[in-house]
Amino acid sequence: MLRPVDGSSTLEKAGKLIVLDIDNTVFNWVEYYVSCMDALARTVAFIIGSTPETLFHESRVIFEKEGSIEYPFLVQELPTVMQYYGSDIERMLREAVEPGRMAFNAAAKKTLVPYAGVMETMQTIKQRWPQIPVVALTDAPRYVAMWKLNKLHLLPFFDAVYGLPDPRIPADIKSQKVKVDPEILMKHLQKSNFDFAGRIRVLPDDYEKPGTKGLKTVLMDFEMESHLKDVLWVGDNLRKDVGLGKRLGVHTGWARYGTAIQDASKKLLLEFSPQNNVAKNVALDPASQDTPQPDFVLETFADMIPAIEKLLTP
Ligand SMILES: [Mg+2]
Repeated sequence: MLRPVDGSSTLEKAGKLIVLDIDNTVFNWVEYYVSCMDALARTVAFIIGSTPETLFHESRVIFEKEGSIEYPFLVQELPTVMQYYGSDIERMLREAVEPGRMAFNAAAKKTLVPYAGVMETMQTIKQRWPQIPVVALTDAPRYVAMWKLNKLHLLPFFDAVYGLPDPRIPADIKSQKVKVDPEILMKHLQKSNFDFAGRIRVLPDDYEKPGTKGLKTVLMDFEMESHLKDVLWVGDNLRKDVGLGKRLGVHTGWARYGTAIQDASKKLLLEFSPQNNVAKNVALDPASQDTPQPDFVLETFADMIPAIEKLLTP
């Protein structure tokens, strides 16, 4: 077990709480997701004789309908793919969905990595302040959020994960067949928790940020509603994350480094994402005049340490 390495255990009864956004706060979501979607679209397009552009275009509609740009059963819902395979669901799963998934995962192996210093900083936080719960609050579907945190090897640092409802399982109405490989289907049906020992909470869809209901739920669960100044809430989206923290009255940290996104990635992201979904996942125009002022600006994730130290200063 992790132990305090200095005298900070005297702060045991401090009753503090850290709440972290995930995407573009602990890892570069845009670079990750764009690389994976690019690999997936190229692979599937090649197999069925289409173009990535066509599949991207169709993806927008699916993501919009499913309410998440990270809908994991995308390929089997794309009209061009469905048309190509007709009623042969098994063949579609075998020939297009699985290779698409493999291409996505291969790209993720390279790009789904924590920002520099995240791992070390999380270790330091848990060592110095083991009594302070660290909570993940994200607008990603709960399953998808935990899948990512697990791949990032960051899941053990969290005491709780709060996400939106799990993705809808796609089915072919005509043949009454589920359009998911049985093994993957089981993981979803069993609501896999990736061996996470902490608390998992699925929030209703309308708890999405920048609404305050999600963070409010976290505060209630941890009995912090009347200790708002003992809470540090950190996210990359100034308008959305920092804004909602300000409205609630907690301490807010802005992960400014999370807004640094390559133009090429931004461009590709826009090709397959509905505008409202882009805003949901990334701050594309971070600086404007009426944006909320954070209590802390984080230039790197390691700046969490001084932010927590300040939180602990009476
Ligand atoms: Mg974010």
